[in-house]
Parts: sequence; structure tokens; C-alpha cells
Amino acid sequence: MWPKRVAVLGSTGSIGTSTMKVARDLPHLVQIKTLAAGRNVELLARQAAEFRPALAVCSCVEDLLALRDKCPSDVVTDAGDEALIRAATHPEVDIVLVAIVGVAGLAPALAAIRSGKDLAVASKEILVLAGEIVTSEARRHGVKILPVDSEHNAIFQCLEGVAPEFVKRLILTASGGPFRTTPISELQRVRPEQALKHPTWSMGKKITIDSATMFNKALEMIEARWLFDIPIASVDVVVHPQSIVHSMVEMVDGSVLAQLSVTDMAFPIQYALCYPRRVPNTLPPIDWAKISSLTFELPDEKKFPALRLAREAGEICGTMPAVLNASNEVAVEAFLAGRIRFPEIWALVEETMQQHTPQQHPTLEDLIAADNQAREMARRFCEGKAII
Ligand code: NDP
Repeated sequence: MWPKRVAVLGSTGSIGTSTMKVARDLPHLVQIKTLAAGRNVELLARQAAEFRPALAVCSCVEDLLALRDKCPSDVVTDAGDEALIRAATHPEVDIVLVAIVGVAGLAPALAAIRSGKDLAVASKEILVLAGEIVTSEARRHGVKILPVDSEHNAIFQCLEGVAPEFVKRLILTASGGPFRTTPISELQRVRPEQALKHPTWSMGKKITIDSATMFNKALEMIEARWLFDIPIASVDVVVHPQSIVHSMVEMVDGSVLAQLSVTDMAFPIQYALCYPRRVPNTLPPIDWAKISSLTFELPDEKKFPALRLAREAGEICGTMPAVLNASNEVAVEAFLAGRIRFPEIWALVEETMQQHTPQQHPTLEDLIAADNQAREMARRFCEGKAII
């Protein structure tokens, strides 16, 4: 049924604003029905004025008056966790785009699935933390999980019409981040402002640091394991600094399928929201005259241990991916606050994983407990560290 009526959770962020671009471009196909954001009520209100959703939600009750003041009177406004769930399960919504940073998107994502909504997932953390639960709930309720992350969206496109037994491995491409060619000995001196300069993508802070450490790719390996129901041993990473090939699928006969486009998140967002349709848009096509070369190299796992840690967490599974994710979040915050050095991000995650006793087939409560425990452990690691 068209247009698709969309709930956008995290509408004021990098993915959220790209989603507005898609909705602006394709109003006959994408209709914004509900909006939810954190504390940027100025932008949320501007989005509400432009798209006239049925509901606009901010995360903190103390911001509600300001939001109400700035929003048009025909838009219902609300605040807090319960309101976020209402935005995700609104009766007029067909598909929920989850683009909240961290695990705050998990509860609304599960609520959306249980009320029969399809999910477009940008927030990789929810699949890393609770991939088993999210995918089994989606199967149980007969709803689709459409990947928004450009790599998984690329794989999703390559897998269209391909039987699972024909797939040998998934190959995620990685830009390599700003320190791809930096000698390992210099990583000690990396400052947050250097790590926040991504060579090819413009994104939120957390994911930009994750790209610099390659924890972004680590999270994506685990995300791919769940989205495509494939062992983590069959998920590989290749560094491709130009970020034109968004990912690839190797078939059992040795053929490799790839998806390419310019680096703009509007491409995967449009594909997820308009699926299964392909529609013309105003996005720029690849300018082949400007691409002098597409290069590929294997990642240096000694320099970037995140990929090894992801493989370990993905093989152990159970609560371990949640521990990797939570300790990485704490480490990124500590690095941005100047409390730990860049290589300590990996050390902190590894140490937290080593101290964790994993539990198999955890419930949501077990996962949240493991997440909390890992955060506490990781914070203890940072305690007493002077501001650098
Ligand atoms: P941003 O930091 O740019 O945006 C995060 C969004 O979440 C903001 O709208 C923020 O609101 C909102 N938010 C934060 N807390 C809450 C809450 N409790 N309730 C409701 N909304 C909340 O992040 P990105 O857009 O970069 O990333 C979002 C997710 O998408 C992440 O999981 C990331 O890994 C993933 N992703 C991002 C890509 C990218 O290109 N940026 C690519 C692929 C995946 P506010 O600003 O108003 O406080």
C-alpha cells in the first residue's frame, strides 16, 4: 500500500535527517506519520512543521512545553519512553525506521514488531545486543526487517532472488577510517578531533569513532550474522577506501555480486522504505569519469583488533555481543571525554569480554543485565584515569 506511512525514531540525527530528504524527494511513496527524537526540539519542531506528522515525541518531559510551543497545533506532542513506544506502534504507521543511537531503540523496535509493523533498522546496536530475539520475534509476527546500514542494505540487494545454499560468504566493505595508513605506533597520540574526521562518510559522533577503531565493522559483522542468518565465520571484511562498493556476496561458484552507489545514506534509506520498489530520485548517479580507481585490501587485524573481538563475540554468542557493544559505548564516551587513549578503546572492550561469563539463549532481561554489568565493569576500568 502506497505511500508507506513511516515512524522515524531518531529523526533529528544524521540518519533521521537523510530520511527527511528521502521523504521530501518521494512524497507520493514515503509519508512521515510519527517523529521521535532526543533533545533537539528546535529541529524536531521544524520537521513537524514541514511534514505534519500525527505525533512528535521528544525524549525528556522537561522539553515537552518547548516542543508544544514550537509545533503546529495539529501535531500531537508527547515525551518520554512510553511516548516513544506510542510513536513506534501508532495505528497509522506501516514501517518504523529505527535510527536512535545506542540501545534505546530496542524497546520501541520490539513493540513495533509485536504490533505488526515492518522495521527499517539503522541502529545496529539493537541487532548486536538482541539479534536472536529481534529476528525470532519478526519471524513470529510475520514482519520484515529491512537493513538501512549501507553495507547490509547492499548485501540485502545482492541476495534478492538468491537461494541461501548458493551463498558462500558475505563480504562487508570498510573505508578503513582516518587511520588506515597511520603507523600503529602513532595511534597512542590520536586525539578525538582527529578520530572524528571520517574520510568518506558524514555521520553521528559515536559511529564516526567506531569507524576509526573499526568497531563499526565489528558491530556490522554481528549484525550481518543475525540479519542474514549466517555463521559469523562466513562474514568477512575487506577495506575499500573509496566507499563506492557498499558490500558484496560471494556465491558458491566463486562469482561475487556487489552493490555500488555514491556515498549518501539516502540510497539505502530509500531502498528500505520503498522496498520492493525501485524508483527514480534526485540523488546523484556515480560519475565514472571521476572515479580513477576502486581499491581493495585486507584489514590489518593487529592494528585494528575490533574485528577479532567481533568474531570471538559472534562465535561465543549468547550475552557476549551485548558485552562487546556496551563496553565499546563506555570506551567511546571515555575517549571523547579525554579519559582514555585511542588504543585503550580496544583494550577496555577486550578486558570486559574476558571478565564476562557468557550465558546462552539469554532473555531480554538477561541481555539488559549483561549490558549493565559490562558498562559498570568498563567504567571501573576508566575510573581514576586522569583527563589526558
Ligand atoms: P546521531 O547521533 O546523528 O542521531 C541519533 C538520533 O537519536 C538523534 O535524533 C537523537 O536525538 C536521537 N535520540 C537519542 N536518544 C534518544 C532517545 N532516548 N529517544 C529518542 N531519540 C533519541 O546518530 P546517527 O544518525 O549517526 O546514527 C543512528 C543509528 O544509525 C546508530 O545506531 C548508528 O550506528 C546507525 N547508523 C548510522 C549511519 C550514519 O550514516 N549516520 C550509517 C549506518 C548506521 P537528538 O539529536 O534530538 O538528541
